Amino acid sequence: MNKQIAVYPGSFDPITFGHLDIIERGLEVFDQIIIAVARNSEKKSLFTTEERISHIKEATGNNPRIIVDTFEGLLVDYVVSRGARVILRGLRAVSDFEYEFQVAQMNHNLKSEVETLFMMTSVPYGYLSSSIVKEVASLQGSVESLVPPVIRKALNDKFGAKDKS
Ligand code: ADP
Repeated sequence: MNKQIAVYPGSFDPITFGHLDIIERGLEVFDQIIIAVARNSEKKSLFTTEERISHIKEATGNNPRIIVDTFEGLLVDYVVSRGARVILRGLRAVSDFEYEFQVAQMNHNLKSEVETLFMMTSVPYGYLSSSIVKEVASLQGSVESLVPPVIRKALNDKFGAKDKS
């Protein structure tokens, strides 16, 4: 049987427990998950693409079923180039829906063989986003329950937050 590969694209600036939850649950459904960091999100990001890749690798460990990569340009072209047919996205509160709906429809128009599958957030992470994590850390708040240790440390280096671990 063919290996079922899903591409999980995003900015991951930085990776949070919400992302990790989608990855973990995605591995229950797919044989392999390619975490694809969008290079065009670099300009307004806190961490460089290389930093984000290194954070994701550290946070996901050495699982041979997880690949960390970057992509530029059209996501659907990247998905096909990796021999995948599925784009995996997470859905949080209603606010995600309209944007995700537009993008999924456009991607389907561009390449109808590529399907977007949505996984509902787990309850504790429903309002967790990379932006809120950055805001809290920049204001010296604790992000311990929101991100893995590698990100706590990276945020601490950037903002001198209280989480020293
Ligand atoms: P983008 O800039 O493409 O939205 P993100 O890194 O913010 O990239 O998110 C990547 C994917 O992970 C998106 O599908 C997003 O909805 C999902 N995601 C982010 N945070 C959570 C969360 N707390 N629970 C579930 N899905 C999430």
